[in-house]
Parts: sequence; C-alpha cells; structure tokens
Amino acid sequence: MSSELENLYQRVIIEQSKEKHGFGLAEHADASSHQLNPTCGDEITLQLHLDPNKATVESISWEGRGCSISMASASLLSDLAVGLDLATARERIDAFREVMRSRGTLEIDEDLFGDVVALEGVSKYIARVKCAMLSWVALEDSLVQVQLETTR
Ligand code: ZN
Repeated sequence: MSSELENLYQRVIIEQSKEKHGFGLAEHADASSHQLNPTCGDEITLQLHLDPNKATVESISWEGRGCSISMASASLLSDLAVGLDLATARERIDAFREVMRSRGTLEIDEDLFGDVVALEGVSKYIARVKCAMLSWVALEDSLVQVQLETTR
C-alpha cells in the first residue's frame, strides 16, 4: 500500500471515529448486542433495526467507547449495513472477518464495502483486529437473534 493511500485511510478512520455515524441508542430495536474487547478496553452496544417486512436492515444504532479503530469501524458499519438484506449482511461480516484475519494478505473489495476499505490496513496489526471486529461481531450476534425469532 502506498503511503499516500495509508494517509488517506488514516484520515478516514480519524474522521469516522469523531463523526460516529449511527451513534445513540433508540428506545426499541429488533435485536441488540453488547460486546467487550478486554485487550483494548473497547465496549459497544449495538441495536439492529429491521424494515417492517423484517427482510432488510433499516438502520443500526450504537453506543460505546474505545479506541479510534473500534469507533470508526462501528461508524463505517452503520453506513454500510443500511438497506442490506439479512443474508447479504451476514456475507459482508464473513468477508470482512476473512480480510481482518489475513494478516495483511487480503484486500477489502471497495465495490462492496465502500469507505470500510479504510480499515484494510488493520489486518496487519493482530492486536487491533478485535478493535475493528467488535461492532461486526455485535451485528452478527444481533442477526442470529433475529433469525432465531423468525424460525421459532
Ligand atoms: Zn481498540
């Protein structure tokens, strides 16, 4: 990765960690999940809101605190998840996890992930992967809850 691109990605991470898209919990949610990353101290509560037919993600809201990577990742995920059907949302989580665990060998597909590509470099720093994954694990957990409900 060129240093110019790395600088750009760093700027996106810092911006997103401040802007925190989706920040603020709602009164009701279709599912919610609390996740803790003890190695860094990151903490997040994520709420999943589905559209009325329960087939797509209407929005994500979250609250939490932690390092800029964990906050930026939650913010980027909030933007990405809107409008995805539930199967696609799960696919994105799996694909993101695969890149994060690749130790810098895999790239994020920018066509599918948009600004999330800014987190690509995190996969080189094993200690920070959990920071980036935290909100995604919370969404994954929420999707499982929703699925259990509809198959009950
Ligand atoms: Zn962290």
